Amino acid sequence: MNKRFVTIVTLAVALLAVAGPILLAIQIASKEGRDAETNRALAYAKDVLSRSDRIAAQIDSGIGTLVAARATDPCSEQNLALMRRIDLASSYIQAIGHVSGDRLACSSLGRHGEGLSLGPVEQIASTGSKVRNNVVLPFATETSFIVIERDGYAAIIHRDLPVDTTTAEKDISLATFTPDNRQVRAARGSIRPEWISALPRPGETTTFLDGSYIVAVAMSTRYATGTIAALPMHHLDERTRSAAMVLVPFGVVAGVVLAFAVLYLARQQLAMPAVLKVALRRKEFFLVYQPVVDLQTGRWIGAEALIRWRRPNGEMVRPDVFIPVAEDTGLIERITQRVIEIVAREAGDLFKRHPDFHIAINLSAADLKSPGAGELLLQLARDVSGGPHNLIVEATERGFMQADVAKEVIRKLRASGIHVAIDDFGTGYSSLSYLETFELDFLKIDKSFVDTIGTEAATSTVVLHIIEMAKALKLEMIAEGVETEAQAKFLRERGVQYAQGWLFAKPMAMADLADNLSIVADAVHA
Ligand code: C2E
Ligand code: CA
Ligand code: CA
Repeated sequence: MNKRFVTIVTLAVALLAVAGPILLAIQIASKEGRDAETNRALAYAKDVLSRSDRIAAQIDSGIGTLVAARATDPCSEQNLALMRRIDLASSYIQAIGHVSGDRLACSSLGRHGEGLSLGPVEQIASTGSKVRNNVVLPFATETSFIVIERDGYAAIIHRDLPVDTTTAEKDISLATFTPDNRQVRAARGSIRPEWISALPRPGETTTFLDGSYIVAVAMSTRYATGTIAALPMHHLDERTRSAAMVLVPFGVVAGVVLAFAVLYLARQQLAMPAVLKVALRRKEFFLVYQPVVDLQTGRWIGAEALIRWRRPNGEMVRPDVFIPVAEDTGLIERITQRVIEIVAREAGDLFKRHPDFHIAINLSAADLKSPGAGELLLQLARDVSGGPHNLIVEATERGFMQADVAKEVIRKLRASGIHVAIDDFGTGYSSLSYLETFELDFLKIDKSFVDTIGTEAATSTVVLHIIEMAKALKLEMIAEGVETEAQAKFLRERGVQYAQGWLFAKPMAMADLADNLSIVADAVHA
């Protein structure tokens, strides 16, 4: 794979991985913000409505009281006193009085001479009340008033009273309107006429987005009144922006960290072949040997060579990690070559002192695809002071897949006297009939099957099948990864001849193997 390609793909994936959740979070923040703003608009609309309802109730009851008094002279001292009492008792009503024609003749403020001009009636509400929306009175020329008249009496309120709620926001728009004629009565801020067309039923509310506004409309149950509250969207944008202010820097950091982590790992993977080459040149590989034990006598009859890689910084890299990379990049043959070189250097003395002892060498699938490794092994068999019988080749099922070349390599090895073992048996796909076409000497029962001995695992009977298969093929068996006496006993009782595992010995350096071998040999002989 091309490095630049991998880098670009990695960056793109890391950015997507980070950008996705952030966009989602901003989306959620924006939706939550919109919900919160909508609720706020609705609360304002309801607040204005309840205020407007209370005002209407005061007007109703004030005018009702005066009508019920049935004064023959509406402007008598007695009736004026009643007006003052009503005015004092009504927190919202500015004044209450008697209307004659279009003039306010007298009110809770006193007699008004020939009367104060109110101007023409603008609306007649469904209740029959006459409404004047914009009346200027001489005692308060700064403001204008709403005058509501019924049966000769009128209540006067400040025009902005219904929408005069205290709010923190300056740019909120509030209005009351008459549903019948869809006319705005009191307003604060800008109100679009089309908002009134969204008419909920009495007692109900509605909310909607209109361009740059979130609008809530509420309708009174008792009076012919609707209210509107509209919040500009920039509140919302602020909320989204502040969410983004928190999330985006976090996301950028996360994205960069993720990208670097992924790139670091990718670089390591990509760099591995190059590093392996350097490691080969610098001779960073060495071997450890794990004894193979005769399950009947306890004698060490041989050992498996296992490769180890110690990096210059002291770090140990597991073969499970670098062997597959070496296999994929064509370096495995050079590694196998190195293993054979090391065995040739280290094992000579051992074979001299223990002529029957064997060393097993792992071959990869690639080693069996060409005759190279086979040639080297034959060379090794000639070089070491022992002979071909001192060597075992371990090949995995995968190694036998390229049947023709592999068969030829194996045939040559066996012809020279080198023994062949099938490794990791049972973990691949090879069938019994397929294996029969190869000439083999040993079958290694994989650790994964040995692990199941004495457990409830469904595979625990597989080990018995493998043993039967080996017997049918007349192969000697070496069980791998034996860790407990119970496993050893089970295998011994079923005719497995040899075993490897921590129960007996862990992989060790050649010097330790040689030392231990003398001691064990002496003990067995004693
Ligand atoms: P493998 O050939 O199946 O080797 C057996 C692995 O099991 C070894 O791991 C060994 O250390 C480990 N082992 C032995 N007894 C026990 C035990 O009782 N318990 C446990 N838990 N483990 C045990 P290692 O040395 O890490 O090797 C791993 C694999 O790497 C080997 O599996 C083999 O496939 C490959 N490998 C190792 N050395 C070479 C080599 O020189 N050439 C090639 N081509 N592959 C090698
Ligand atoms: Ca092996
Ligand atoms: Ca194995």
